[in-house]
Amino acid sequence: MDKTDILSLPYDELLEYVTGQKEKAFRGKQLYQWMHQHLATSFDDMKNLPKAWREQLTEECSYHVLKPVDLQISQLDGTRKYLFELADGNMVEAVLMHYKHGDSVCISSQVGCKMGCRFCASTLDGWLRNLTPAEMLGQVYSIQRDIWNFRGFEKAPSIGSEEYRNTRISNLVVMGTGEPLDNYDNLLTFIRMLTDEHGLNLSQRSITVSTCGLVPKIHQLAEENLGITLALSLHAPNQEKRMELMPIAKTYEIHDVVDALRSYQKTTGRRVSFEYSLVAGVNDTDADAKELSELIRDIHGHVNLIPVNPIKERDFKSPSHQAALAFQKKLENCGINVTIRREMGRDIDGACGQLRRRHIHS
Ligand code: SF4
Repeated sequence: MDKTDILSLPYDELLEYVTGQKEKAFRGKQLYQWMHQHLATSFDDMKNLPKAWREQLTEECSYHVLKPVDLQISQLDGTRKYLFELADGNMVEAVLMHYKHGDSVCISSQVGCKMGCRFCASTLDGWLRNLTPAEMLGQVYSIQRDIWNFRGFEKAPSIGSEEYRNTRISNLVVMGTGEPLDNYDNLLTFIRMLTDEHGLNLSQRSITVSTCGLVPKIHQLAEENLGITLALSLHAPNQEKRMELMPIAKTYEIHDVVDALRSYQKTTGRRVSFEYSLVAGVNDTDADAKELSELIRDIHGHVNLIPVNPIKERDFKSPSHQAALAFQKKLENCGINVTIRREMGRDIDGACGQLRRRHIHS
């Protein structure tokens, strides 16, 4: 019999599961708190649950806690890059970045990626499978435990205490390996569990999901009544250049993608943003900046410029700092709100997918 993936069960489903085991509903609440607030690493740690029931849970449920098999720490800015091994031996990456406003975590949503963006290392080995809600939560929880650990707490601070609030991660981006909207149902369960008041209780406003532009899924997401931010990986000012960089552009035309974003913004009232990888000589000219501003000006979304991280399998070069600044200026002059993304963890395997690749090919 397959074991129940208990870490993937949302609060209501967990209560149902527990009462189905002839336990009282309050036991379900305790169990959920142990897993999603205290971030316990085993059923054995859940000391106020009856021992016989903990043994039954161990027997019937899988409870795989992600532990880093590699951790790289930037000497420049303290960025921490984690490589986690999943129960089936696959590996995924996640990153912790420290900003003035708090700790921000970037997680993966799939093992590999099928989208084939030309500048991205995560897609070079193809797509293997979707991550479960438990595996997405597991990345966040493992990093949260690490934060508690390096901030000097032996275990989770008391729930609701100032320490708990002050040490909890403040932002989450689903921008690591994988296309999150290609793993739609699991992504939504993950977001709902992460923002559940019985769990880590992150604000939906502190969550950003990045998509390469799956139009039907963007429309579907708009109807989910979530307060998250949607970021579009745009990377090109027109259809022709987008097709060169992103195979998905052959399926969804650039104007349809941008229209879907407009409609997302209108339906949800949430802001949207754009990711634009700057590739020297490909999409960084004055004419590109002008065309880009015309395409998105009415959306008033923030543009993040990302000087592309060179990967050895592709011949893409990052523009000089001056060229990136000139592109930014040109967009600003056209009324676009834009920043050049600060490169975090430049001295470690910074580009998404590189650490995992190094491990699977070693
Ligand atoms: S940029 Fe994102 S969507 Fe594109 S291949 Fe990489 S992980 Fe996949």
